[in-house]
Amino acid sequence: MKGFDYLQTELDEMKEQGTFRKLIPIESEQGSKVVINGKEVIQLSSNNYLGLTSHPRLRKAALEAVEKFGAGTGSVRTIAGTFSMHNELEQKLATFKHTEAALVFQSGFTTNQGVLSSILTKEDVVISDALNHASIIDGIRLTKAARKVYNHVDMKDLERALKESQEFRVRIIVTDGVFSMDGNIAPLPEIVELAEEYDALIMVDDAHASGVLGENGRGTVNHFGLDGRVHIQVGTLSKAIGVLGGYVASTRTLIDYLIHKGRPFLFSTSHPPAVTAACIEAIDVLLEEPELIDTLWDNAKFFKKGLAELGFNTGVSETPITPVIVSDDALAHQFSDKLLQYGVFAQGIAFPTVAKGQARVRTIVTAQHTKEELQEALDIFEKAGKELSII
Ligand code: PMP
Repeated sequence: MKGFDYLQTELDEMKEQGTFRKLIPIESEQGSKVVINGKEVIQLSSNNYLGLTSHPRLRKAALEAVEKFGAGTGSVRTIAGTFSMHNELEQKLATFKHTEAALVFQSGFTTNQGVLSSILTKEDVVISDALNHASIIDGIRLTKAARKVYNHVDMKDLERALKESQEFRVRIIVTDGVFSMDGNIAPLPEIVELAEEYDALIMVDDAHASGVLGENGRGTVNHFGLDGRVHIQVGTLSKAIGVLGGYVASTRTLIDYLIHKGRPFLFSTSHPPAVTAACIEAIDVLLEEPELIDTLWDNAKFFKKGLAELGFNTGVSETPITPVIVSDDALAHQFSDKLLQYGVFAQGIAFPTVAKGQARVRTIVTAQHTKEELQEALDIFEKAGKELSII
């Protein structure tokens, strides 16, 4: 296309550097194994922590909702697209998160964008961890608020940013609860201490912690016993919950404000009945089948230990997300390709998703994996890792 020649130039450069990626289609349902190119491989790339994407109770709830309410909702929430089940899900999420109210957005991404862009003005400052998720970064870009970035989980640097921010009306610290590329947990107790000392608010994005950490998977706030001391909790319905969407849990006032001002909420059609019904069922599964979370953690410990014993660099992970850091961008993709050839689907992740020199293959075990599957995956990691001289 004339005028857009630079797009092709950039893509050609990626091809030369070995970082051009093709989308890999899955030909089966999501699970501990999936079919790719007609072959069954061990799935270590999904965020389906508890295997809920294909849980019989969620399937049934989704099917029944389609039968009763149809495929779509036909409107945005504020016009004619709020069904009673949308309110039911939000009530359930608020109770689950121990907050006054909650609001569902179309995705976790738009939740961060919608919340940050609508509640802050030029009188305020947002103070963000350097490794926060792209949706937080983009949300901050959309605000008129001043912005400060503190070095990743560096509490001294956070304190510096707070000290420099005293003249603003609102200081809000924003952090991922679990960092999506490294699998480490934010030092929330220290963040809360500092926030209280410097009169700041806190927003936590628990995309990778909901369904994973805390009682019944309530997230990092509950994990650290900080209920009531973190002001805004964001989460996704697309990872451990197994379906699609995002939510924010906070005070009634903040939620009412977002209903009127949260642009992705206001101007985008509400979730289809199947999605909402499956999410409601997922929360019940979390409450009634907590053993899924125990299995997830048991599997995570087994696999993490196995990778470390093989000599891989697994960074600072404390959760079921375990990166295998190989540094070089092209090598990460080569490693991932080889793993797939031998029967493991674990995606290579390179710049700009992670910093230069930090390229990795990221693994996420789930509650669905058996120990045999995880051992088989470790054997394949060993074989591919040795062939590429990573270990
Ligand atoms: N926040 C974090 C920390 C994430 O890892 C993700 C998922 N990529 C999101 C938000 C976005 O969630 P969703 O996929 O539901 O849009």
